[in-house]
Amino acid sequence: MCEEEIFFKYGTAVGLYFLTGCRTNPGKISGSPTEAEEMIVIRPHHLTDILSNYGRGSKFDVPARSGQQMHIVAPAILSNIDIKAKFVVGADDICKGCKFLNDKGECTRVKASGLVLQTYNITVDNKILDYLGIKENAVMPVREFLLKVNDHLPGIETVCTHPGEDPKERKETIEKALRKLEIRK
Ligand code: SF4
Repeated sequence: MCEEEIFFKYGTAVGLYFLTGCRTNPGKISGSPTEAEEMIVIRPHHLTDILSNYGRGSKFDVPARSGQQMHIVAPAILSNIDIKAKFVVGADDICKGCKFLNDKGECTRVKASGLVLQTYNITVDNKILDYLGIKENAVMPVREFLLKVNDHLPGIETVCTHPGEDPKERKETIEKALRKLEIRK
């Protein structure tokens, strides 16, 4: 698929994503270029984070200083929840360009609290997949994932709330996001 077709099919945000993220990614990312043109590759906790931030009112319009691609991937998903996604336990499309991603596709970030993200992310992503009954590397429309999250609310916040965050606030913000996306009544 050429760049113009990508812009036409997925909109400006995704078009920009393919023009920037795909070509500048120094790390190993799941999915071939052909796969990437047709779907988003995402860690499940990144998608629950997107929901939570969207529920809080984030517009995802400020690029992160780390170079990660949340400001591109989140609007692409939120503007078309029927886009296909591959749910991985490893580096994803948001990790592209992130200064913490090494050449092996591992996250090298260690938070000030001492939390080692490489191991933490694997744990939280597996917990979310298990909780929702999704297999690693499963491909489905984002909408299907959101419906599963909705079916597990309350509950999902017990596995996707990060250390130092309030599970109640996470539950409420995910609910808000699902309502904004017309997944939840
Ligand atoms: S900090 Fe780690 S998990 Fe987060 S975007 Fe960067 S490489 Fe990915």
